[in-house]
Amino acid sequence: MNHTATQAPEYYLKTYFGYESFRPLQREIIGDILQKKDALILMPTGGGKSICYQIPALMLSGITIVVSPLISLMKDQVDSLIANGVPAAFLNSTLSFEEEGEIIRNCMEENIKLLYLAPERLISTFDFLSQNIKIQLIAIDEAHCISGWGHDFRPEYTQLSVLKQKLPHVPIVALTATADKVTRKDILSQLRIPEAKVFIASFNRPNLSLEVRSGWTEKNKSSAILKYIRSKPHESGVIYCLSRKITEKIAAFLQSNGVNASFYHAGMSPGDRSRVQEAFMNDTTPVIVATIAFGMGIDKSNIRWVIHYNLPKNIEGYYQEIGRAGRDGLPSDTILYYNYADLQILTRFATESGQPELNLEKLGRIQQFAESDVCRRKILLNYFAENTTENCGNCDVCKNPPKHFDGTILIQKALSAVMRTQEKVGVNLLIDILRGSQKQEIIEKNYHKIKTFGSGVGISAFDWKHYILQMLNLGVIEMAYDENFSLKVTELGKKILFGTSTMEMVIPKDYEEIRKKSTKEKAFEKEAFIPAVVTLEERLFDNLRLVRKKLAQDQNVPPYIIFHDTSLKEMAAYLPVSMQELRQIYGVSLTKSEKYGYEMLAEITRFIHENQIIRKKEVFISKPQIVSAPQNTHKTPTHEVTFILFKEGLSIEAIAEKRMLNISTIHTHLQTCYLHHLIEDHTPYISEEEINLVANAARVVGSPEKIKSIYEFLEDKVEYLVIRWAIAVLKKNDRLSP
Ligand code: ADP
Ligand code: ZN
Repeated sequence: MNHTATQAPEYYLKTYFGYESFRPLQREIIGDILQKKDALILMPTGGGKSICYQIPALMLSGITIVVSPLISLMKDQVDSLIANGVPAAFLNSTLSFEEEGEIIRNCMEENIKLLYLAPERLISTFDFLSQNIKIQLIAIDEAHCISGWGHDFRPEYTQLSVLKQKLPHVPIVALTATADKVTRKDILSQLRIPEAKVFIASFNRPNLSLEVRSGWTEKNKSSAILKYIRSKPHESGVIYCLSRKITEKIAAFLQSNGVNASFYHAGMSPGDRSRVQEAFMNDTTPVIVATIAFGMGIDKSNIRWVIHYNLPKNIEGYYQEIGRAGRDGLPSDTILYYNYADLQILTRFATESGQPELNLEKLGRIQQFAESDVCRRKILLNYFAENTTENCGNCDVCKNPPKHFDGTILIQKALSAVMRTQEKVGVNLLIDILRGSQKQEIIEKNYHKIKTFGSGVGISAFDWKHYILQMLNLGVIEMAYDENFSLKVTELGKKILFGTSTMEMVIPKDYEEIRKKSTKEKAFEKEAFIPAVVTLEERLFDNLRLVRKKLAQDQNVPPYIIFHDTSLKEMAAYLPVSMQELRQIYGVSLTKSEKYGYEMLAEITRFIHENQIIRKKEVFISKPQIVSAPQNTHKTPTHEVTFILFKEGLSIEAIAEKRMLNISTIHTHLQTCYLHHLIEDHTPYISEEEINLVANAARVVGSPEKIKSIYEFLEDKVEYLVIRWAIAVLKKNDRLSP
């Protein structure tokens, strides 16, 4: 064996990441890396690439170098690793000279397992690093940046070709979420790892729902989006728009309707941009309205929805943008609004771009996707050369299959109006004519006198728009871009108009938001949104979210680094009340349970008590036993370790020293022991007077859980650990109720 670890990779997965099992390919990749083989890994965003090198990094004796292009991502990754008890660091321009020296010293002493660097930094310091630290593995993230064929070429990456020459025996693992065949080959040859095994995971993201809404007006779009956001309070989402101006407009609209939203685009100052991004990461501003400038370097795992206010330029961009939702694997929504006006603008952009043929072709493919009447996921996966024949069941086409009807007469009405107006009208005016509008322009031009005037009055303008879009796609009419976008009848159209051919069409979907509403309904909606009935589980989830937010503020990291939503959802569903049970929850690593477990358990226990919930203990027994203990020693909960030392007669200071923990942490352990009746006497730690002081403060601030408020109420005179002791005593003796 080339590594020094005595445990299997599964042990590290559970202990350091809190997961039960590997995803497809991860185990195989780790096995290969441990055998010092090079590898290229293609997995979609959120697919779980990082673990493929993080676990080998933990198992190997030396240091793993991780090349990453973005400073913001480095910090996030390192914070996440540290939260899980994995020693990691980064080197970049944000650090002071002293901080850098400290990190390098730690690397030399092998106190660090993973070191993150930007490519240019790695190259400039490589000789020093390779001579002074034991490099065991090199991981190259966003590896497609090395290739001019990819969509994000970064010249700094090309210098990475020297790595294999200089350290031929150190395995290189390249990782990316997007790489077509040409790019893949280029990555292998440029990194000089032509023999590397290529691992390609499925690009399917079944937890993302797909929906396309065609032909909506601006007004309908914004009010539907507002309604959607109101139906998902507290949840994070991104609205992508075509232009900076639109982002500002939509953000203002949402703000004026009470939504906590910000806009983001490349026209803002770097400071403003990072402030907006930060607030989003921290769950302070849940909604961002942005151009595609937003997202690179965003690793937030709990984005619950992504809306495209406008059509994206191509499928690659679209897939990448919706891919930012649901990285934690929980169900997330994606909605794409598609209309002809956007298509016109994008067609012009593509035509005027440096590569008009390529870009028009790509635009054509996303148009096909948007207009598809077969499963949309099939189209996406086929686009990425992942052939599939099964319907997904989680896209609008699968859920609500299009209904066809004989559209011949409808087409004839429209085409006849087009002919009788000498093919001079555009979409909107045509609809006005068909619906018998008395607009001034119509009267002036005598269009109200033509035979088909008002012949489509029974059909809503929304539906007409939809039908005309279909007619354009079916090729019965075309649009003269150079003649004020007027509509012309094609040869095929003439055949239908003169009755020699028929044509099927699709009935437009019936959207509640667009249907004409009674004034009563409208007033009701305007008044405010009515919150849905909230279950106990949802309430506890919300509470746990608040506890997490507080912990995140204390630690100065984004909330998802403390725990993912998935973990909180499981806690709310399974109700763990002990450290052992908590460690069976998805994503709760050993370190996280020790660092944050107490606060979570306290809230869960409180909630169970408050609502008199009867727990189903069986769920924990049925879950596989967690941390597979090293060398057959039983893994003892941390407070019990403290308790053993305490029983041996060690002082609190001595225990803290021995366990390399804070004194206040040891007090927390003793409080847990006290609540579990392992210790009965609290008098060495707190006086009756202090207990009464805290009890009084808790009553005033309204809750014993608001430790910070209690602390402030007592004007900082009573230490946190004393307050915690008092609360424990009050709880145990049921002295909390007023
Ligand atoms: P990528 O780098 O491919 O975009 P990440 O490595 O960030 O994806 O992983 C995405 C999420 O999936 C992370 O929260 C990660 O912890 C989680 N994850 C990875 N592997 C597993 C696994 N085997 N079981 C459960 N969750 C996993
Ligand atoms: Zn489908």
